[in-house]
Amino acid sequence: MSHEPEARTCDLVVVGSGASGLTTAVTAAFLGLDVVVLEKEPQLGGTSAWSGGWMWIPRNPLATESGFVEDVDAPRRYLRAELGEAYDDALATIFLEQGPRMVRFLRDRLGLAFIAGAGIPDFHWTSDGAGFGNRSVCSAPFDGSRLGKEIARLKPPLDQIAPFGMGIASGADMAHFLNATRKTQSFVHVAWRILAHWRDVALHGRGLHLVNGNALVAQLFRAALDSGVTLETESPVCDLLMEGRAVTGVVADTPGGRRSYRARRGVVLAAGGFPHDTGRKARMFAHAPTGREHWSAAPRANTGDGLRLGETAGGEVRADLSNAGAWAPVSLAPKGGGDFGTFPHLVERAKPGLIMVTNKSARFANEADSYHDLMQALFAATPPGEKPEAWMICDHPFQRRYGLGRARPRPYPIRNWIANGYLKRAARIEDLARACGLDPVRLSQTVADYNRDAVQGRDPQFGRGESAYNKVQGDPETSPNPCVGPVATGPFYAVKVVAGSLGTFAGLWTDGHARVLDADRAPIPGLFAVGNDMSSMMGGRYPAGGITLGPGMTFAYVAAHSASGVPLDNNKT
Ligand SMILES: Cc1cc2nc3c(=O)[nH]c(=O)nc-3n(C[C@H](O)[C@H](O)[C@H](O)COP(=O)(O)OP(=O)(O)OC[C@H]3O[C@@H](n4cnc5c(N)ncnc54)[C@H](O)[C@@H]3O)c2cc1C
Repeated sequence: MSHEPEARTCDLVVVGSGASGLTTAVTAAFLGLDVVVLEKEPQLGGTSAWSGGWMWIPRNPLATESGFVEDVDAPRRYLRAELGEAYDDALATIFLEQGPRMVRFLRDRLGLAFIAGAGIPDFHWTSDGAGFGNRSVCSAPFDGSRLGKEIARLKPPLDQIAPFGMGIASGADMAHFLNATRKTQSFVHVAWRILAHWRDVALHGRGLHLVNGNALVAQLFRAALDSGVTLETESPVCDLLMEGRAVTGVVADTPGGRRSYRARRGVVLAAGGFPHDTGRKARMFAHAPTGREHWSAAPRANTGDGLRLGETAGGEVRADLSNAGAWAPVSLAPKGGGDFGTFPHLVERAKPGLIMVTNKSARFANEADSYHDLMQALFAATPPGEKPEAWMICDHPFQRRYGLGRARPRPYPIRNWIANGYLKRAARIEDLARACGLDPVRLSQTVADYNRDAVQGRDPQFGRGESAYNKVQGDPETSPNPCVGPVATGPFYAVKVVAGSLGTFAGLWTDGHARVLDADRAPIPGLFAVGNDMSSMMGGRYPAGGITLGPGMTFAYVAAHSASGVPLDNNKT
């Protein structure tokens, strides 16, 4: 006798519970659909729950309500300038129109709270139409107790960047943490945050003051529970149900056994791209010929299942993007037992007193530029056949003030990181070079060359600290240049960085309704892709922070409308 669970019939199945999957789910539920979200992992949230939670949404309601009103032509020109041949006017138009509506819907209809990115500039200030702020929003901090016992099913923040599981929000919160040993007000803020965190851990097993992407997912999770969405964890989808060309449901390996889910309105793939699909990485990442030369900071469960499922139904993964991933420099921080964490270097690179060099001891980029730009520069500087690796080099005041990767700033001790070989330390630059396997003479020369201008706050080689984006990433207390200072006071430190990513860009070919297209570019009935399963509308470019979550959630909102048959210009959402 079979003990397989009975098939479940619903309107819409969503595969994956990141921000894109959950946005699809709550929007579709609001539009009247019976929605089932199937999540592979024991906890919801995927990469989204580890992210900064910033969404690039030009003309978002928070900006316009604060009086910042810009014509749609400005972000459109920026996209056109940035994306070049990859610019798709149809997708850009839908994104620019529906992005603000998506935010307004989540806020006004479902009660999510956001904060404005008033001072966050786009990455490339000299491009036509570049913005200098007000084009992004982030989740407001969220009280995790509002999830009740369900908080056990929320993925905690990324351990690499959240000390003891405590997320630190970008902006003022982060500034307080960096100044905690220098300013009374910051010390009080941090002491209070830490006390509250440990109180929550003692009473509830984890911190409840949620910030960044963790708060974003928590808010969507709350909305999903309130909307009657069924959320099933530990249930990886392994197959699609098809009738002719149409997708009519999925098969998942649930804790109760293999189960079919029939979906009257279709299936939405939201499984977070392929950051840990070794085979596809080998095929699509030029720097990773075996697929194992790339270390993504995204969760290991994101193994490209959505893309494979889409292909079984006739979908195609786009191979024409300029970059198949959202590159980021990462370091491999030992965790014990041979395991390691992938630390994404997103913050400290732009602070004064650090440089990055190749294995030839040469600087190769403006270290304060975006993670994606920096990695492209490293790829370009790496001779064919060699691994794209680099070293971050800083001095003692820098390490103690800002931290270097996993070796956090004062008052955190660093001896374990030195002992396990993650952090190299030496009294002189020449000895540091030897510890890293670099040429001592060349590294000393590189540091001396950099320092000569750095003492005056200048970087003639790469123009570090000149762009608006560089400036906000730097240290406002350092003048004349918030990003430039000499590497001068020993002991000196180094951490090795390798090629990594925040996620992948190449995904299933879709149209502006988020419908997956087949080889003839015809929509496959009943199949949608959102988030990183949908090929990025940015075509491999990275014009601004938040360009994965912003379009990801916008096309999730669009997909929910497509699946429910409600036009986007309705008055309901
Ligand atoms: C440290 C860090 C910071 C970042 N900050 C930002 C930021 O501020 N702004 C921004 O735009 N982007 C940011 N990113 C990138 C961003 O987080 C991702 O691009 C985005 O979260 C992807 O969302 P998603 O919904 O497509 O996938 P995910 O959030 O990864 O969700 C996919 C889910 O699908 C599940 N899944 C996989 N396979 C299956 C299966 N077979 N069946 C069922 N479920 C499955 C996974 O377990 C996962 O839970 C950051 C990334 C990192 C690592």
